[in-house]
Amino acid sequence: MLLSAIQQKLKRDNGLEYGMDEITVTVGAKEALVDASLALLDPGDEVLIPAPYWPSYDAIAAFAGARPVAVPNEPLAQHLDLEALKGAANGRTKAILVNSPNNPTGAVYSKDELKAVADLSVDKDLYIISDEIYEHMVYGGRKHYALASFPGAFERTVTINGFSKAFAMTGWRLGYTAAPRELAVPMRRIHMHAVTHPAAFEHRAAAVALTECGASVRAMVEEYDRRRQVVHGALNRVSGWRCPEPEGAFYAFPDIRGTSLTSEQVFERLLAAGVQVIPGHLFPKGEGSLRLSYATSLENLKTAAERMESAFGRA
Ligand code: PLP
Repeated sequence: MLLSAIQQKLKRDNGLEYGMDEITVTVGAKEALVDASLALLDPGDEVLIPAPYWPSYDAIAAFAGARPVAVPNEPLAQHLDLEALKGAANGRTKAILVNSPNNPTGAVYSKDELKAVADLSVDKDLYIISDEIYEHMVYGGRKHYALASFPGAFERTVTINGFSKAFAMTGWRLGYTAAPRELAVPMRRIHMHAVTHPAAFEHRAAAVALTECGASVRAMVEEYDRRRQVVHGALNRVSGWRCPEPEGAFYAFPDIRGTSLTSEQVFERLLAAGVQVIPGHLFPKGEGSLRLSYATSLENLKTAAERMESAFGRA
């Protein structure tokens, strides 16, 4: 039931056609990433990851003995530096791991950027691990493109997705992978022997989420969009901070280098003022920024904005 709902979703939303045996329901997107890492990577392999990125990727690559290579994005904009990515690929590079919309930066990579990733992967014969867990959270008329849909990408891409973001089912621990059979079979083997499958009764709920809850997801994303606009404005009013427009997911990633403080120092001052953020240095290549989540009420966000402004002054 859930496999067929995922199969239909991939066709409907992403234009991708997979057989049932090419989709695996996993214990969260995290397990999907671990399965992909263990199935595709060998000790000594390198994985290119546009940075800053979600720190679990380092640990997940390390399970397979592979080495994550953090490739810095364009400064401030937090979009892909394609020349840097090309330059980082070498004989040991086995895969590129892309996450759009992005945690922590909130960037949504454009069609051209993603096509360039696909082209690079074809050119260098790399696997693509595409973490699309925030795909429904894109704003300002932007569009999400599945990496597997670009020419030459399908046969080398493992798509990672899940239910914890768009459907706010974080504690349910449900995710999935979709990949061509050659890649899906070894991942499924790892999955079967590690977890068998996530709790069976949850599958029904997830199938309903995929097939019947589109309107609720759209309403939730509209609410995130309202919060995003308030947060974006507020962050650019804080002295020494500059925040690029958050384009997707539910994160803002202001550059705080104008304060001449480290991200840890800014974090400490904010904590004392009653605002919780994540200091940028906890993300590879993220020093100089902060990650803020706007997955909280508008009221909380407005209070946080007042506290941030009084802690650092108005720009
Ligand atoms: N991928 C990214 C980029 C995330 O931010 C997260 C959760 O924060 C996950 C994967 C993990 O998702 P799940 O809760 O489905 O394991």
